[in-house]
Amino acid sequence: MNALCIIGGRVLRPDCSVENADVVVDTDTGRIHDIGEDIAADYDVAETLDADGCLVMPGLVNAHTHVAMTLLRGYADDKPLDSWLREDIWPAEAELEPEDVRAGTELGLIEMIRSGTTTFADMYFEVPEIAAAVEASGMRARLGHGIVTVAKDDAEAATDIEEGLRVAREFDGAADGRIHTAFMPHSLTTVDEKFLRESVATARENDIPLHFHANETTDEVDPIVEERDQRPLAFADELGMISEEDFLAHGVHVDAEEIELLAEHGTGVIHCPASNMKLASGIAPVQQMLDAGVTVGIGTDGAASNNDLDMFDELRDAAMLGKLGADDASAVPAEAAITAATAGSADAIGLPGGRIEEGGVADIAVVDLDAPHLAPAHDVVSHLAYAVRGSDVRHTICDGQILMRDREVLTLDEEEVVETACERAMALVERAE
Ligand SMILES: [Zn+2]
Repeated sequence: MNALCIIGGRVLRPDCSVENADVVVDTDTGRIHDIGEDIAADYDVAETLDADGCLVMPGLVNAHTHVAMTLLRGYADDKPLDSWLREDIWPAEAELEPEDVRAGTELGLIEMIRSGTTTFADMYFEVPEIAAAVEASGMRARLGHGIVTVAKDDAEAATDIEEGLRVAREFDGAADGRIHTAFMPHSLTTVDEKFLRESVATARENDIPLHFHANETTDEVDPIVEERDQRPLAFADELGMISEEDFLAHGVHVDAEEIELLAEHGTGVIHCPASNMKLASGIAPVQQMLDAGVTVGIGTDGAASNNDLDMFDELRDAAMLGKLGADDASAVPAEAAITAATAGSADAIGLPGGRIEEGGVADIAVVDLDAPHLAPAHDVVSHLAYAVRGSDVRHTICDGQILMRDREVLTLDEEEVVETACERAMALVERAE
């Protein structure tokens, strides 16, 4: 075994307890081999990472994003979802070239690695470019092509759907198994019913999971209720879109019956608190969903509606907004927010990780607790939820490989990536205007 040892830190266990321990990783299998106090000496260690004064925790899992939207960060703000999409985002996206998506994705991957995220679920376009970036970065991901059929003729819509199914088949298992895929119709209102019916059936026949936006705003919920006299998730269920392997983003405006439906079917909900606040979409009933047994994950959504991909920001927002929504300061406590951003997200998107445990995948973030804003250390778990920043992450490991050591990203050239992304972003918005 080639052993990588993370030495001298404290380890966050799946029950949110914290213990002094070294973590030994088998870099051949990419799995955690052993966890225990002072065990490094028992192994013939090929490589070490210093974790003195640090907390060793599971890599964060960003369970809903559109990574390449980093290119549009700060391009259009302070507008509601519908006009923001129609007036600003979609016209710019219409000008995207494959190289733009590659550049924006690499920028986002660097931002995520630097803030302790090892795994993400992404809905966007030009998936082959995204998959290539993920492969180079060493991260783990579930990828899909975002399908929109409104304002398209039948032939264009069919092409879009075919692309969604094609990339889902082609890239599942890519990058030595670090990439998996899903079929990703954008939402129940942006893909026509006839296309949803056909394509969901095809995805099901091919055992491809589904990911879509649902119940994000009242503007999206109300037309479905008026037209069909049916709640959106009852409609989604009828279409066969609410299975255990499926996961939906947002779930802001869900009623008690819809929550029950999600819990019964084991369908994951990805809470995106910053995006929901910024677009004034509403407050998701996260504590109610947790109480009902729904698998809740956390996502940043795209950088244009956030405006960053820092999961520590996001899990703090989840804890804060959960309390505001429930009118109860004990709702969505620190442990719940941390669990949602790690194990909850991993389970919801159907990828391994989110837990530091023997035999589990070695997807790890090492957080440096030696900082003025983290003193005194009364409660490390509280700090993780309420005080740690993404920039406190010192090392990031995914699948047993070191992606960042002492804040230096090893798998992508940071300077070059930032420069290329900025050039491409400027040219993109110029074409769109
Ligand atoms: Zn989204």
